[in-house]
Amino acid sequence: MGRQFFVGGNFKMNPVTREQKNALVKVLNDADIDTNVEVVIAPPALYLIPLKETLRKEIQVAAQNSYFKTSGAFTGEISPAQLVDAGIPYVILGHSERRTLFHETSELVADKTRAAIDAGLRVILCVGETLAEREAERTKAVVDAQLAPVVAALTPADWDKVVVAYEPVWAIGTGKVASAAQAQAAHKDIRAFLAGAVSPAVAESTRIIYGGSVTAANCKELGGQPDVDGFLVGGASLKPEFVDIINTKR
Ligand code: PEP
Repeated sequence: MGRQFFVGGNFKMNPVTREQKNALVKVLNDADIDTNVEVVIAPPALYLIPLKETLRKEIQVAAQNSYFKTSGAFTGEISPAQLVDAGIPYVILGHSERRTLFHETSELVADKTRAAIDAGLRVILCVGETLAEREAERTKAVVDAQLAPVVAALTPADWDKVVVAYEPVWAIGTGKVASAAQAQAAHKDIRAFLAGAVSPAVAESTRIIYGGSVTAANCKELGGQPDVDGFLVGGASLKPEFVDIINTKR
């Protein structure tokens, strides 16, 4: 079976008011969207349950982070079990903002991924290189090293719960999008890594989505690449053009 196109919207720490949040929900609920696409919105934790309750049922929600413990003295954290209990199906893990600003290592991301899957969540697992790493031609080495602890933590069967998001750090929130050729090359390398480190079947079935300054203007060319199975969208997910990105394949 082919890989279903996937579009995620990462609201990050936006919007600031419930009124703005309601306006975003209205845009999505009123839109004519391609029902062949899996659409997942990741709002701030505060809005997870309200979004789940007010968004049309074809659109799912994701947390932007979760911890690897089930409960206890971990102030400020949310556990995978709590998300599952609240009916939240997905979590984003390893976003570059968490790796950079909150010093999350690939080992921690692997522990969180293991715990999320054990609890019953699906994971949008983010990887990607910095500009300096790309310029030093270390993109594949860096991304493989980010994936390796996750490969070690998961069984091959776990991978049907994972969507890999390739998000070059230099393209996130910068307006500097990867070219279609750059995205395709990186996605092909990730698929090759999964084929060798997990299995060819897992490599073939795992969705690898691109993130980094995706807009309505560039989504068609990026989405036309054979190894690009969708997008993780930050800034543009807060704008009406997000609907055009969801409908990339139309
Ligand atoms: C992101 O936050 O995952 C992202 C890709 O952001 P942006 O689309 O704004 O670059």
